Amino acid sequence: MQHSPVATKKNSTKHKVKQGVSWGVDGAVLATSGAIGSESSPIPQGTSSFIPQGAGSRSCPGAPQGGGGGTDSYLETYDNVSSWLGTTCDKKGVGWFIAGECENGHRFAKELVCGKEWCGVCGEDGSIAHLRRFARWLPKAQQFESMGYFVFTIPQELRAKYRAKRDLAMLGHQVQELLKSYGYSRGLRRWHWFGDITRSGLRGDIPFHPHLNCLVDGGFVAMATLEKIKAAYASLLGADVVDVNYRYRVSPGKMVHSLKYVTRATFQDYDLDLEMAMELRGFRNMVVWGRGQWDGPPVWSLADLQGKPKAEVEGLDIEAINNLAAGVCPVCGKALTWGEALPIGLLTMVDKQVLGAGYYRLADVRPPPGLPPDIKQRLYWLDLIHRTEVRVAIERAEAEARAEAAESQGWWASLLNQN
Ligand SMILES: [Zn+2]
Ligand SMILES: [Zn+2]
Repeated sequence: MQHSPVATKKNSTKHKVKQGVSWGVDGAVLATSGAIGSESSPIPQGTSSFIPQGAGSRSCPGAPQGGGGGTDSYLETYDNVSSWLGTTCDKKGVGWFIAGECENGHRFAKELVCGKEWCGVCGEDGSIAHLRRFARWLPKAQQFESMGYFVFTIPQELRAKYRAKRDLAMLGHQVQELLKSYGYSRGLRRWHWFGDITRSGLRGDIPFHPHLNCLVDGGFVAMATLEKIKAAYASLLGADVVDVNYRYRVSPGKMVHSLKYVTRATFQDYDLDLEMAMELRGFRNMVVWGRGQWDGPPVWSLADLQGKPKAEVEGLDIEAINNLAAGVCPVCGKALTWGEALPIGLLTMVDKQVLGAGYYRLADVRPPPGLPPDIKQRLYWLDLIHRTEVRVAIERAEAEARAEAAESQGWWASLLNQN
């Protein structure tokens, strides 16, 4: 079903790519991080010996190129692009993870997700992809005493000028510089691509509506200052009237809520704007400014949260998640080496500690030295599965013994009652 892969490197773990990798199994392909998906962490390339035959790793087709080529290459490009759009983790039979290990034998697993906003899985609020974005920015949000939240929109008549990655990136940068000139020396920015469906009407009537969310250190801002920022933004766009929204959050709970909201998926169906869905592939949408200004201690703790915001961070080991996303062992701080993609079924078979956002800690098992890596990996997993089986068997035996004891007790009791 797939067309010939470009530059395939089977079983290669040396080639680490940040985006555009896909794995194929029986014709189904899971592409890692594209467009909007580039916000999820880098994933090593490669497939494993556990993966059925014929399922080599494939690198993704390139983005559509304007002009050039004949009909065939056009068709191929179209096919490649449309298969990229449609290769999402909501397809049946798709599910992969990778396992990583540090030199001290600490082991972890990471679920692979496509990260596309229109993926039925990744597009959901609270999905792995969403939680990873949220977890990445949460320690920064914890440095805000008070969080200012700007939203810069683009007037409808000007939106046609902002349909290329380059222009959207440039506008984002200009807004950032504008905010810096007003004293917001550090901040977080991310585009939302559509308005709220509930506000914009039914499916099909939702126009591409990019708006830039900026989270900064900020509290109350005088109206006159907001008007100046608005005027400066209007002149950036060359517009007469622009819409800039500002509010601020002082409670940790509200800050968590705003962060969750800003990092959510908004491009929930590629059919909303197919052209933009393809254009935004590889777009870096999670931008932090103020290098070197984020090293301070947190000013509020996750322990301060209550109610819903508390529930939202429950079960997330933020520090471990961010270490793992950065390829660092959360236990000892050494670099992690991630292995090849493995079918998710294997992960479900073994005992593991859940760290949240699709990350797990696995048992620290050292395979015998001097064996080839693929054999070591097999032995490791067989050992892990065996351990789980042993644990389950022991638990079952114990449960049976308990049941038996209760039964015989009941039998004696009934004898006593009879007599
Ligand atoms: Zn997905
Ligand atoms: Zn370690």
